[in-house]
Amino acid sequence: MKLKQTYKELPSIFYADVALNKVASPHVVLWNEALANELQLPAFWREQADYFAGNDMPEGAAQIAQAYAGHQFGHFTMLGDGRALLIGEVETERGLVDVQLKGAGRTPFSRGGDGRAALGPMLREFIISEAMHALGIPTTRSLAVTLTGELVQRESLLEGAVLTRTASSHLRVGTFQYARQLADYEHVKVLADYAIMRHDADLAEQRDKYVQFLQRVIERQAKLLAQWQCIGFVHGVMNTDNMTISGETIDYGPCAFLDTYDLGAVFSSIDRQGRYAFGNQPKMAGWNLARLAESILPLFADNEEQATEAAQAALNDFPVLFNVYWLEGMREKLGLFTAREDDRELVQQLLLAMQQHKADYTETFRALAEGDYPDNELFESDAFFDWEMKWQQRLLQEDSSYAEAQQLMQRANPIVIPRNERVNEAIRAAEAGDFAPVEELLHVLSTPYTLEEQYAHYAKGPEDDRPFVTYCGT
Ligand code: AMP
Ligand code: MG
Ligand code: MG
Repeated sequence: MKLKQTYKELPSIFYADVALNKVASPHVVLWNEALANELQLPAFWREQADYFAGNDMPEGAAQIAQAYAGHQFGHFTMLGDGRALLIGEVETERGLVDVQLKGAGRTPFSRGGDGRAALGPMLREFIISEAMHALGIPTTRSLAVTLTGELVQRESLLEGAVLTRTASSHLRVGTFQYARQLADYEHVKVLADYAIMRHDADLAEQRDKYVQFLQRVIERQAKLLAQWQCIGFVHGVMNTDNMTISGETIDYGPCAFLDTYDLGAVFSSIDRQGRYAFGNQPKMAGWNLARLAESILPLFADNEEQATEAAQAALNDFPVLFNVYWLEGMREKLGLFTAREDDRELVQQLLLAMQQHKADYTETFRALAEGDYPDNELFESDAFFDWEMKWQQRLLQEDSSYAEAQQLMQRANPIVIPRNERVNEAIRAAEAGDFAPVEELLHVLSTPYTLEEQYAHYAKGPEDDRPFVTYCGT
């Protein structure tokens, strides 16, 4: 197999060539065999720690850092990969897949950074991205974590590591912002044509392909955000450079899953205003998509008024689509196959009770799916009692049986999610040299809708409600 280099065919403003930054003694500590098989990587790659640390390159590889811009917490900045090397693309049945080394050393976009990454955050990205994948949520994937044999200076000295990340592309909203900010119409067009080739090839011959492309991105993001909200995922840093064109979740820095249901949940230590709070995510996604629309606006029509109208119409669809997908997802969580007018209210009433009684999001829905309620404040409340009567009546309006409803719910409500404490414990063990807990956690998370008895503790929410805090991926 030879890596492809389609991104490198773009004008050179879109990337910078980077020299290899060799490290002392690379050693692969985590390997995703299922993903390697899916990508049909040559078997000998598994033994090539040098490839995954950026010491040596597989056939056809290049070393480039992608250029992009982004609104970070609302402020526009020129960025680019400060610590990631795109080495090329693998051709698969699903299209091209980028292979990127995150933490492989300095690039022209590193600014003050060292271009490196510590083991802990790279393990965290591996664990959570693979958990998302197993939950059926579009995401970048993780192929390997490779120790560099060198230390990185953070608040303390930590072991350095490189994450090998794959993605159906690393094109971001911020890539389009970069093109629009730095270059002319032609560069925006070249980038849009490239994105269409990667993600929406069927549009290539369409007359209004750029408007349709925007609609596709909006559609994918509406679906993705609905999935985040249904599963209780808080991304934490939804800057425009962390929003993909593909609709895959990217950048697992300060993300976390909800324990107790709370629309205001913020885990990231740097999100002091709660811009990216759980309940704000759909709105922020819409804001980001407006930045994409602005960036590609000149491609829509010669007439500015017409172009703006087309963009506005597409953007107006985002909240509508999000709501449709979200309600579809929530209906499944409640075992409903059909749609009725009052369903949204039914869902909201449950969520409100969960918020008031600080109910664990994942445990509550799974308990409903099992028909086996724990003794806790929510399940003992009048609010729940009222709600449950309505829900039971609503279930009776379905043609399907209760057993069928239960099966649907058990497919839609995971038993196990990456619980913050379990993830941290496993990472701490790995930092001390024992990777068995990370392997076990990955095993458990790979089938989130079933759980073997001996792993029951992975399903439990935290004992206390001390707020959990995440720190941006370093
Ligand atoms: P993020 O908040 O993860 O989206 O990263 C924002 C920007 O900071 C991106 O351009 C990263 O490539 C860059 N960056 C993050 N960590 C480092 C580092 N250790 N060295 C250089 N650049 C970094
Ligand atoms: Mg990022
Ligand atoms: Mg990051």
